[in-house]
Amino acid sequence: MLKQSLFVCTFAQRILFRNYVTKPVRVRFAPSPTGYLHLGGLRTALYNYLFALSNNGKMILRIEDTDQSRKVDGALEALVEDLEWAGIKCDEGPLQGGTYGPYIQSERCSIYQEMVDKLIENGSAYRCFCSDKRMDLLRREALRSQQIPKYDNKCRKLTQEDINDKINNGQSYCIRFKLSSDCSTFEDLVYGSIAYDVTLTEGDPVIMKSDGYPTYHLANVVDDHLMRISHVLRGVEWQISTTKHILLYKAFQWEPPQFGHLPLIMNADGSKLSKRQGDIRVQEFRKKGMFPSALINYISFAGGGFNRVIGDGIISYTLPELVDQFNIDRVNAHSSKLNSDILTECNRLELIEQVKNPKTLDALIKDVQNLVNVQYRGKNIQASKEHVETVLKWSAGRLIHVRDLISPSYAFLWVLPNEDIQIDDSFKKAISLLCAELSYLENDAFERTKLKTFLKVFSNENDIKFNAFMKYLRKILSGLDEGPGISEMMEILQKNTTIERLKFAVK
Ligand code: GLU
Repeated sequence: MLKQSLFVCTFAQRILFRNYVTKPVRVRFAPSPTGYLHLGGLRTALYNYLFALSNNGKMILRIEDTDQSRKVDGALEALVEDLEWAGIKCDEGPLQGGTYGPYIQSERCSIYQEMVDKLIENGSAYRCFCSDKRMDLLRREALRSQQIPKYDNKCRKLTQEDINDKINNGQSYCIRFKLSSDCSTFEDLVYGSIAYDVTLTEGDPVIMKSDGYPTYHLANVVDDHLMRISHVLRGVEWQISTTKHILLYKAFQWEPPQFGHLPLIMNADGSKLSKRQGDIRVQEFRKKGMFPSALINYISFAGGGFNRVIGDGIISYTLPELVDQFNIDRVNAHSSKLNSDILTECNRLELIEQVKNPKTLDALIKDVQNLVNVQYRGKNIQASKEHVETVLKWSAGRLIHVRDLISPSYAFLWVLPNEDIQIDDSFKKAISLLCAELSYLENDAFERTKLKTFLKVFSNENDIKFNAFMKYLRKILSGLDEGPGISEMMEILQKNTTIERLKFAVK
């Protein structure tokens, strides 16, 4: 139904329709605290943030918790932490406050009550006494006759006398807003001109429930107005509600903000990005060792809004670079798929950058030390600062995330051989000789193919049984019976650690 009545503009028309930004820019991210931040929410928050920063504006966080039954304890704190981790800082919000607070809707109930009274007074809203049973009946009848189920606006017609009687009888009621076909078009900053007559598919919506809590539509409009929101950028799933919201603004005689709806982002296979999938929670990406910049590039590649040219390859941008480039006219007006190659490649590139920068390198070293200490608790661990630094410098460019370093194939990096390795005397001599010869090698000779040749030549020249010797070397270098090749281990451990471990075994 919506599709038939929507008219979507071309890119050029969108620019023609653009209103110049005249008011100070104030945008908001308005999640419901029903769980943890997921990729869809992060995308909305990110695009609001980029829009705010690129227009010298302010970013507001508002918690929309009027549906108390869906509220999850601790969700606000977790959400703010995820946003901050991603680099998104809000100027006003429940934790830091601000001029237009409170920023949690359940703390603003008296404001909504006052606003509802205004709408009743000016004839735009009315009390509805229809029971759940009647509503259910209407719905079932509509379905039976293949109509769209919608409220028949029965209580619009109640007289003041009817209303007083019902109230005196103690009948409970909700408040409904009178819909009309006015204002059925608006200019969407992303989609262009949108025409949608809400009365075709909906009866008058409830704006305040019988428990005194407002519904999303009322609270959202009232707060956007009172919080001086200039631009509403939100997921396209809310586009269908926007003409209804504009009617509410009209009923209050308020100027509506500008609206821009962000298209759906989908999984790589084109399926819906579901909140229920554990792997789209920001926390999951954090646990896996993803960097914020990788996640932000992942999302922004899909959503558009930048100068990226297809065919340029994967270029990872920093948040300030994204702010510089952001242009709402370039946001995709079609749904886009996430591409996990972008996520991993951006993480790999970020790891290279972080290893290069002494400040971030220090933090990485600490992260790795913590991971190693937890993973190999109780074992003979080697995770000195110098050693971790060498490993990180080797891994930059090769690995996707630092967590890869604690996978079983890299255990030898951290777990020292046990002290009681029994070594045959003849091999002990060979190991001491090997240490001496290795110490003459330049650092750049510690490369796997060169080392492989070196070990072969060394064994031949000294008449050493190659396979048995390699077994000892593996045990000494890694304390393990399996793992990567010896020359590869030596390359990663580098000269000093390799010699140190060998000497230690034969001391
Ligand atoms: N509370 C709504 C949500 O959970 C906000 C929609 C809007 O931004 O208007 O997404």
